[in-house]
Parts: sequence; C-alpha cells; structure tokens
Amino acid sequence: MAGKLSVRKLNVGGRRVFCRVDFNVPIEDGAIADDRRIQASLPTIRLMMVKGARTILASHLGRPKGKPSPALSLRPVAERVSEILGVEVRLAPDCVGAETEALAHNLQPGRVLLLENLRFHPEEETNEPSFAGRLASLADVYVNDAFGTAHRAHASTVGVPKRLPAAAAGLLMEAELKHLSPLRGSPDKPYVAVLGGAKVSDKIDLIWNLLPRVDRILVGGAMAYTFLQARGVHVGDSLVQADHVGSAGALLNDAASRGVAILLPVDHRARRGDAPGGEVITTAGPEIPDGARGLDIGPVTAEAFAAAVGGARTVLWNGPLGLFEEPPFDEGTRAIALAIAACGAQSVVGGGDSASAVRRFGLEAKFSHVSTGGGATLEYLSGLSLPGVEALSDEDAGGAA
Ligand code: AMP
Repeated sequence: MAGKLSVRKLNVGGRRVFCRVDFNVPIEDGAIADDRRIQASLPTIRLMMVKGARTILASHLGRPKGKPSPALSLRPVAERVSEILGVEVRLAPDCVGAETEALAHNLQPGRVLLLENLRFHPEEETNEPSFAGRLASLADVYVNDAFGTAHRAHASTVGVPKRLPAAAAGLLMEAELKHLSPLRGSPDKPYVAVLGGAKVSDKIDLIWNLLPRVDRILVGGAMAYTFLQARGVHVGDSLVQADHVGSAGALLNDAASRGVAILLPVDHRARRGDAPGGEVITTAGPEIPDGARGLDIGPVTAEAFAAAVGGARTVLWNGPLGLFEEPPFDEGTRAIALAIAACGAQSVVGGGDSASAVRRFGLEAKFSHVSTGGGATLEYLSGLSLPGVEALSDEDAGGAA
C-alpha cells in the first residue's frame, strides 16, 4: 500500500485520534439525501472504537466560504452516525475553541466526537499554521480516511498529520491506494484504459501518464470529438474543446509511435437540434452531420469497444461514454460497463461520473474497485503525488506504537 502506515497497525488504544473523514454528503431540506460517504468510513470508525480509541472525526461539508453557515452544519451527519453506530456521537460546537477542547479532552475510550464543519474557518483551506496547530492539539495521533480530499494541502489533510507523531491511512484510504497504486506502475497486461466524459482537458495528463503503460486506450464521451477533429473527422455540432485539438493530436502521434492503439468511435448516436426532444439518429460512420450533436457512442463502436476489453487483465475506466443521465444515450456506457464487469480483469473505476454510472446500472459489486475520489483519483493516476498521502507516516515508522 505505497509504503504508508495503516490504521490496522497504529496503536490507538486509549489515545485521542484525529480522524479526517469525507462526510461531504448531499443535504436536501436539512436531511441527508445519500449517506454512502458516511457508510464508507464506518469500518475505520468501528475498528478504532473496538481498539478503545477516543475518536475525533473531522470533515468539511459543502462550501461555506470560511464562515459558519447553519445550512452546512454537520448536525444531521452526527445524528446519522449516532443512529448507525448505536452510540451517541456528539457534535462539537466548532472544530477549535475551548468548548471543543474540553469535549475532546473528556472523550472516553471507545467513544466518538464529531467536530463541526472544518470549512467554517478559512484557515482550513489555506493550511494556516496556528489553526493546524489548534486542530492537532486536540489529539495524540492522526488517521486519514478521506481519499477524495487527499489532493488538497489543507490544515486537516497536511497541517495536522505533520504535527502529530504518527499519521496512518484509514481502511478506505488504504483500499484506494491498494487498488490505484499498481496502475501507476506496471499492472498485469494486457492493460486497457477506457476514457470518456465531457472534457478532454481534464484527462490529458492522465493519458500522457498512461501511454507508457497501456496496450490500448478506448476513447468515448464528448472528449472523443476533440480527438476525432484532430484526425480531421467532421463532428457536426458536437462538443469540441477547440484549444485542445492540438494536444489531442500530439497524444495520437505519441501513441502511434509507441504502438499503443487509441480506439475512437466509428459511429455515434446523435441528436438533431438543441432541444431534448430532437430526433435521435445513428450515424453510419465516424462523421456527424451539421445540425446534429453526438451524445453517445454508436452500436458498432460499443461492440468494438466491448471486444477490445475482452482478454484484458487490467482495465481502468474513467468517464462515461455518453450523456448517460439521459436515455437512450446511456446505452454505450451500459454496454461497456457490462463488458468490463464480465471480462474477468482487475477492473478499477476511477470515481466521479463513471462511479455514478456503475451504481445506476447496479454493477458496483462486479468491479474490483470503484474509487470514491474524483479529482484526487485523476491526479493520482496522472502520476502526481497527493499531499494528503505524502503526509502519512511510512509503514516502517513504527506508528509511534
Ligand atoms: P467529466 O466530468 O468530464 O468526466 O464529464 C462527465 C459528463 O460528461 C457526464 O455528465 C456525461 O453526461 C457527459 N458526457 C459524456 N459524453 C457526452 C456527450 N457526448 N455529450 C455531452 N455530454 C457528455
């Protein structure tokens, strides 16, 4: 696991543990609309409770812009965590301050306290030293289970672990690194990457990092039109990032010189006009007529892409292959999701919209790993180091045991 200390090896009994979690759940009318992020960190929290830790949970919620905002209080989260764990999880009135310090100090072994929204203070995002010091003073050791914010150098992800004698990965963080880190090295071949989504600009660094490792890259979604344009194919009114046609061309040339196949759509489902009710057409080839906008890969492409993942031993999938939120433009994404799920490879879904698509199709359990990160996953797979991971103690550090 990238040589980082795990919470499983950290001596937490009787100690106060500052545990950064990602409880940034959607709140609608004051209620939690989806508690998946809470559920994801329960194994770590339960492990610490069983070991007799005095667990201090810390998270952000939404974008309060550095000011307290009742609508972005973690109160509903504290209630939900209490309900699930079957013990009262108190919500501290703030993440710092005398009252919070007293609550942390008096916390009993095996009990859990939740700090109020970290981002009520602008110093969280600027990693202001005295704020990070005040947070760190609440605890003896540190655990990070919030992979989704590990690409941010904030007080709670970098400042606090630097100030405590041991900083470990929680079980969710550990699982993310276990599945994602091999993809930055030499995973089992054939290694196939399936990329989609709207913006090619978000994926350029990822593709450069993939080229020396992969056997094939299948490109769908709106980003495919920028690549098709780079190859001189007419794409009608489809979304093209004009300022990235040049970099798409450079990627295609580099792939060709390495012998890496980049497969682009050979047909499309497109819609005439701008309105949702416009006529849906299936093109006979890669060209899209003027007045029509490509919104999904076509059936011939879906078959070719499904065949191209067959026989793979490792598959990375990042980004939907079409406008999957609007049937019938979900068909291409569904076909490829099913093909990846059935191919028997080590299959990793790189978070964000592709993770939502997998859940929408009810296929989550068929993949080796569905990442909880969006931006963090992209940055990590692009070869960047994540500040929140770098800040953790090395595995052999002994964990201040
Ligand atoms: P991204 O955040 O760049 O991964 O883009 C994800 C979004 O791209 C999803 O909301 C998809 O519906 C959308 N998308 C994928 N393919 C297309 C397409 N051909 N046209 C318009 N939107 C698309």
